[in-house]
Amino acid sequence: MSDVRNVIIIGSGPAGYTAAVYTARADLKPLVFEGSVTAGGALMNTTEVENFPGFPDGIMGPDLMDNFRKQAERFGAELVADDVVEVDLTANPKVVKTHTDTFYAKSVILATGSGYRELGLENEKRLSGRGVSWCATCDGFFFRDQEIVVVGGGDTAMEEAIFLTRFGKSVTVIHRRDSLRASKIMQDRAFANEKIRFIWDTEVVDVLGEDRISGVRLRNVKTGEESELPVGGLFIAIGHEPRTGLVKGQIDLDDQGYIKVESPSTRTNIDGVFAAGDVVDHTYRQAITAAGTGCAAALDAERWLTLNA
Ligand code: FAD
Repeated sequence: MSDVRNVIIIGSGPAGYTAAVYTARADLKPLVFEGSVTAGGALMNTTEVENFPGFPDGIMGPDLMDNFRKQAERFGAELVADDVVEVDLTANPKVVKTHTDTFYAKSVILATGSGYRELGLENEKRLSGRGVSWCATCDGFFFRDQEIVVVGGGDTAMEEAIFLTRFGKSVTVIHRRDSLRASKIMQDRAFANEKIRFIWDTEVVDVLGEDRISGVRLRNVKTGEESELPVGGLFIAIGHEPRTGLVKGQIDLDDQGYIKVESPSTRTNIDGVFAAGDVVDHTYRQAITAAGTGCAAALDAERWLTLNA
């Protein structure tokens, strides 16, 4: 058996890198799997981040994540730009496999994040961060006095729409059915808000614009009729997928599929396994909260190693 590591961290967003900084500074020599495609996590796909404390003038998402990465490396975290494809978390030591190698660790921190569901349109990706967003808390501020569209019919979509009325000239909710899935109370709030209007039975079939969004193409699902709506911002609120494929069947998940932890700690139901960031969090989903729980996971792992290793 090759070296048994103190801690292996899976994921390289704000949660994973923060856990790396803390465990490296505790001299635990963490091994971090960053993923092969999106090392740096969700913020690699955005432009300006204005709400991460410490950057009064804002910072570009990729630059922020590069800083996280450098800080982790500076203290000796070993970073591997590869995907973990299999784990055995109940084994002793725990087993972590990539396509080519097998690694062993006394403890594991899971920080694999979550993905926003997308509409699946080519131009949606191209204009992401250029008027297309998945997070009103993150980006609402950029859309002052704009015509905004929110896609979705659940509680999150209503929350986003109501929040966005603080900034937008108007907020139009586009929903592919003729009624909402959202809870009654959220529906009532949205219907009562004078800035919100609804377009029913309608899908967004294209996002228009060259360097920035200029509009959306809509299709009525009942009549097939297509139309264009000029907009300054498009918020997509059709759900989230926590990345738990790796650990499903081994670890307890909650009813929405997120990893369950013994809050406020980051302990999972498996001894020596901790989880942090958006893979745990269906409430806040912010870079700063992910970094915060990444820190907590590192401290939890460090204490666990002191008592158990
Ligand atoms: P992520 O950042 O999602 O990182 C997870 C990492 O795990 C990824 O690097 C992935 O490659 C890796 N991974 C997954 N599976 C594996 C595996 N099997 N093996 C190896 N690696 C794996 N928040 C803000 O606070 N402010 C903002 O302005 C803001 N803007 C945003 C804009 C966009 C477009 C998006 C998508 C999100 C935005 N957010 C913002 C939210 C923020 O990005 C997330 O809350 C945060 O990144 C979550 O951090 P995380 O570390 O939990 O997960």
